[in-house]
Amino acid sequence: MLYRAFGKTGKMVSAVGMGANRFKPEVTNTADGVEQCARLVVQAATLGVNFFDSAAAYSGGKCEEILRLALRQVDGKRYICGKSSSHQEKTQDAVLRHIECSLKNIGIDYFDFYYMWSIKSMSQYQEIMTLGGPYEGVTAAKERGLVKHICFSSHTSAQDTVRIIQDGAFEGVLLSYSLLNFRENNNAIETAQRSGLGVAVMNPLGGGIIPQNAELFKPAVMNDDIDTNDAALKFIYAHTAVSTILCGVENGLELAADVKSLSATDRKADSRRTYVAANLGAFSEFCTGCGYCNDCPAGIPISALMTAYNQTRFKSDTFIYNRTIPELIKRGNFFRALEGHTEFKNSVNPCINCGKCEKVCTQRLPIIDRISKIYRWVEVSCASLFDRKKRLGSLISTQYHRVGFYTAGGYTAFIIKLYKKLLGGLPFQTYVFDSNPLRWGDEFSDGFVIRSPEEIPELNLDVVLISNYVYSDQIYEDLTVRFPAVNVQRLHTDKDVPWVF
Ligand code: SF4
Ligand code: SF4
Repeated sequence: MLYRAFGKTGKMVSAVGMGANRFKPEVTNTADGVEQCARLVVQAATLGVNFFDSAAAYSGGKCEEILRLALRQVDGKRYICGKSSSHQEKTQDAVLRHIECSLKNIGIDYFDFYYMWSIKSMSQYQEIMTLGGPYEGVTAAKERGLVKHICFSSHTSAQDTVRIIQDGAFEGVLLSYSLLNFRENNNAIETAQRSGLGVAVMNPLGGGIIPQNAELFKPAVMNDDIDTNDAALKFIYAHTAVSTILCGVENGLELAADVKSLSATDRKADSRRTYVAANLGAFSEFCTGCGYCNDCPAGIPISALMTAYNQTRFKSDTFIYNRTIPELIKRGNFFRALEGHTEFKNSVNPCINCGKCEKVCTQRLPIIDRISKIYRWVEVSCASLFDRKKRLGSLISTQYHRVGFYTAGGYTAFIIKLYKKLLGGLPFQTYVFDSNPLRWGDEFSDGFVIRSPEEIPELNLDVVLISNYVYSDQIYEDLTVRFPAVNVQRLHTDKDVPWVF
């Protein structure tokens, strides 16, 4: 295993880091499955992995349990990362409590690295940094020795990531960097390196896109590389800014292959990046993000839409929040790529067919057709603010006084925030339910207390809205059988893409 310094933290971390969000719910929902995942973590440690990522919500909420089981069997130095979402833990106190709870769940005394999780915009970053906000919570945890180094994970644009790094509040960054997006994100990782931050890379294989499109990425493979995955990992580590690569493995074979790729010094490291930049430039029908088309008289953010559209050109058999319909995955990947960058106010295509964009497009892309298709997707997927407002308004009548939300996750926190933004507040008593007994009585976002579903019948609720996306059908079946007299509604239809990723 190769090791590198994680920025200026003084920690030497393994080239392969262990991502912990790839254990599938169908595996983690049994005790045997949890033990099987823990064995994989132990195997990783045996192979030299010392960087372990975690988040309470990962792997169907079983991530911390898996780590607890595994770490009992792991000797030697290991670095554990935790995360807190500003959608869910909005205040200093909430973050502190979240850290204490996660430490207890994992059975450790401190996190080596703790992430302000999934920053998607500058406004979210500013919320994190407000007085009494999440950053103060993690700073207080650091003062108490519960956290050693404060980091952030970025899902915002490379430009914003650079601005956050330059603000100087963090010692490390977790971001996406791969054969798919290295051109956009080079500046971000190089700024991190110059600023002394450690860089952990997520989605090294583009969430499965690279192995599933191995032919397309073949130009990145050099002599002696085993396959596209091997080339893709070596390419990332060839950049000296990268400290560790979070490989989300599902089994021992995948783990062994990733470790093998990053176990010995890559003799081609010096030439690899130039080689790949030259060869992968040959993609056709892909937007390169050059931005020449951005002067649209209708105000359409063309390059943002076209770069996100790239996602739909790849074969992908992964899943979007457990849903496996190919068309839905394609649309989901598109909207996921746009998240935090572009919001659709409605589904009316504003293009006036002037043709200006297609004349300047360096790749001669059929932009007008693609934009028309995108707005049809917006309509069918309930992806515009107008459609979401309509949906929320139809499910929660203005006559309602008592409304329940199920489950108490980040998705529900997002929906409550969206409701307030689109409909101007919560003009009803709000109740939040969750099936996890360990969370009953805890404070949720906005100070709501998390309740047991057993309380539902006594509360005279006008509606219980299942705001969860993944388990919507199962929860609906469960609640309607248990409480036939209660008005239970699903927020999502089968055609929706997630409203938050
Ligand atoms: S054709 Fe449509 S998208 Fe292209 S510049 Fe004109 S209005 Fe904008
Ligand atoms: S000009 Fe073409 S390639 Fe360049 S950003 Fe616009 S759509 Fe993409």
